[in-house]
Amino acid sequence: MDTTIRNEVEKINIDAILIRDVPLAPLCSYRTGGDADLLGTPSNLSELRALLAYASEHGLSITVLGGGTNVLVSDRGVRGLTILTTRLHQVHVRGTLLCAQAGLSVDKTIQIAIEHSLCGLELLGGLPGTIGGAVRGNAGANGVWLSDFVEWVDYIDMDGTLGRVFRSEMDFSYKHSCFSSNNYVIYEVVLRLIPNKETSEAMRMREQSRRKRFVAGQFDYPSAGCMFKNPEGYSAGKLIDQAKLNTLTVGGAAVSHKHANFIINRSGDATSMDMYRLSQQIAEHVEKSEHIKLEREVQLIGQW
Ligand SMILES: Cc1cc2nc3c(=O)[nH]c(=O)nc-3n(C[C@H](O)[C@H](O)[C@H](O)COP(=O)(O)OP(=O)(O)OC[C@H]3O[C@@H](n4cnc5c(N)ncnc54)[C@H](O)[C@@H]3O)c2cc1C
Repeated sequence: MDTTIRNEVEKINIDAILIRDVPLAPLCSYRTGGDADLLGTPSNLSELRALLAYASEHGLSITVLGGGTNVLVSDRGVRGLTILTTRLHQVHVRGTLLCAQAGLSVDKTIQIAIEHSLCGLELLGGLPGTIGGAVRGNAGANGVWLSDFVEWVDYIDMDGTLGRVFRSEMDFSYKHSCFSSNNYVIYEVVLRLIPNKETSEAMRMREQSRRKRFVAGQFDYPSAGCMFKNPEGYSAGKLIDQAKLNTLTVGGAAVSHKHANFIINRSGDATSMDMYRLSQQIAEHVEKSEHIKLEREVQLIGQW
C-alpha cells in the first residue's frame, strides 16, 4: 500500500464501521443463514480501504454483500470480514454517463437516470439488489442486461489499490462478468445511457416492469430470484416443470407454484440448508429425467 493511501487509512476509526456477530438473515432476501463474525459498513473509499487493510493485517478472508438478493448464506455463518456495500450509494451524472457507487440500489439508479433524462434501464424496474451486485452477475430482465450499458467499473483489489476495467475487458456473458471469478470489490459503476426527454414514458415503463414482478408473485415469499441459470437453449423453470418437481419441499423450502425456478422460504423459518438440499434434489432429478445439468445462479456464502 503506498504512503498516501496508508496515511488516509490510518485516519479512519475502524471501530465505527465494524460490528461483531451480526445476523445476516435480515440482510438477505431468503431471510436465512447465520451470523457474520465481523461486518464492515463503509460509506466511502477510505473506509473501504481501511477495512481491507484491517482484514489483511489480521489474516481475515473477505466476503462482499450487496443487497443480499442473489445469495444463500450458510447457517453456520461467515468467518472473517463481510463487507456490506449498501452505505456506498453516492451518485452523479456527467452528460450521458451515470456514475453510481456499488451499493446504490438498481431501482434508485433507474429513478435518478430518468430524472436526468437518461433512459435505457427502465425494463429493469423492480430488479432487487445493488448496482454492484447487478454488474458482478450481469443481471438482466425483459431482454435488457446491465452489460448493455456499462462503460467502465472502478474496483478495489485486496491491497486497497483502485483499478479500472472497461466494458471490452469485462468478459460479460450470460449472468457473468470478470468479477464473477475474481475477488475484487466493485466500488463504482459507470453507465452510458441514452438521452431522452420523454421522462414520463420512461417512468411508466419502469413502473410497469416493477408491477409485473408483483403480479407474477415474485415477492410473495422470501426468495433469491432464480435458483438456477438457464442452460443454453433451455429454460431452467420449464425443465423443473417437465420433471414434475413443483411439489418438492425440504423443511420450510419449497418450489414456487408461480415460477418453478424460484425456491422459496415458504414457511418463513426455513434454513439455508433446506434451500441448499432442495436445490441439490432438483438438479439431480432434472439431470436424471432431462439429461441436463443445472448450474446454480444463487451464490453460496460462508461455510458450506
Ligand atoms: C424476487 C427476485 C427477483 C429477481 N429477479 C431477477 C431478474 O429478473 N434478473 C436477474 O438477473 N436477477 C434477478 N434476481 C437476482 C438478484 O436480484 C440479482 O442477481 C441482483 O443483481 C443481485 O444484486 P445484490 O446486490 O443483491 O447482490 P448480492 O446478492 O449481495 O451478491 C451477489 C454476488 O455478488 C457479489 N457482490 C455483490 N456486490 C459486490 C461488489 N460491490 N463487488 C464485488 N462483488 C459483489 C457477492 O459477493 C455475491 O457473490 C432476483 C432476485 C429476487 C429476490
